Amino acid sequence: MQEYYLGLDLGGTKILTGLADDKGKIITRSRRDTEAELGEDKIIKNMIKTIKDVLNKANVNKNQIRALGIGSPGPLDAQKGIIIENSNLPWKNVPLVKKIESALGIKTLLKNDANAAALGEKWFGAGKDVDNLVYLTISTGVGGGAIINKKLFTGVNDNACELGHTIIDPNGPLCGCGNHGCLEAFAAGTSIAKRAREAAAAGKSKKILDLADNIISDIDAVICAQAAYQGDQVAKDIFQNAGYYLGLGLANVINIFNTEMIILGGGVMKASDLFLDKALATMKEFALAGSLELVTVKEAELGSDIGLMGAIAVAMEARLIKND
Ligand SMILES: [Zn+2]
Repeated sequence: MQEYYLGLDLGGTKILTGLADDKGKIITRSRRDTEAELGEDKIIKNMIKTIKDVLNKANVNKNQIRALGIGSPGPLDAQKGIIIENSNLPWKNVPLVKKIESALGIKTLLKNDANAAALGEKWFGAGKDVDNLVYLTISTGVGGGAIINKKLFTGVNDNACELGHTIIDPNGPLCGCGNHGCLEAFAAGTSIAKRAREAAAAGKSKKILDLADNIISDIDAVICAQAAYQGDQVAKDIFQNAGYYLGLGLANVINIFNTEMIILGGGVMKASDLFLDKALATMKEFALAGSLELVTVKEAELGSDIGLMGAIAVAMEARLIKND
């Protein structure tokens, strides 16, 4: 009997589900709004609808499904299958795995989205040829995941690799976690946006303000990038500054993990030409030579499918390791 796997990428605004064959090739996919504002039960119903939808479209019976992988924003307890809470979803200690398994009778595995993305890049993306990598996503926040000897490094209770909350400068800006100077507080899209709003409010960049039609609260990282591409020095400096601190973060990753590869993903990487050179130069300046000489830094390859391919890799991880 042909075996299949399911992956579900749970986001704050949309749910993306795919059915894959035993090689990880997507056969059918389904997308729905999360409708997070309608509450927990509605979100779970929407998740189940996308799963039934991909099975129906492919005419596959749920007995043929070996596992469902879910990638979700955290914090969560992957072993217990519980989402603890999330700023974009109305969850509070939701036993998601138990609820999905009892509704569908399909073995379900849950991982945080950055860990799932690390698995996706390892098995289906830029990391296919290495056994050790660290994935870093630079997006609204900064998240990470590490693959060590082909396996996801989870930590004792799945909270390893919160690379965004490693402290780069204790005198730095306040982070959402309550500490000062986390990598996320320097390099995330929201942090770049905050610097841009501060610069505009202080009258330092007319270009940023113009691009936002003089509405300071509308200034985001995309507008800051547009200003930089149009030659605005303040906007350019904001990205260079983020790049410098990202470089310190990369040097720390190299010194901790002695990894073969670092893969960079996330929305902010769309503007990588504004900060990546600075980040790599800083990384080279501060990482220890022994580890630095063998590491490769690559951009993620899975693009907008990274969440979905990551979730499929979560479902397939045991099989992929066994067959490799
Ligand atoms: Zn933090």
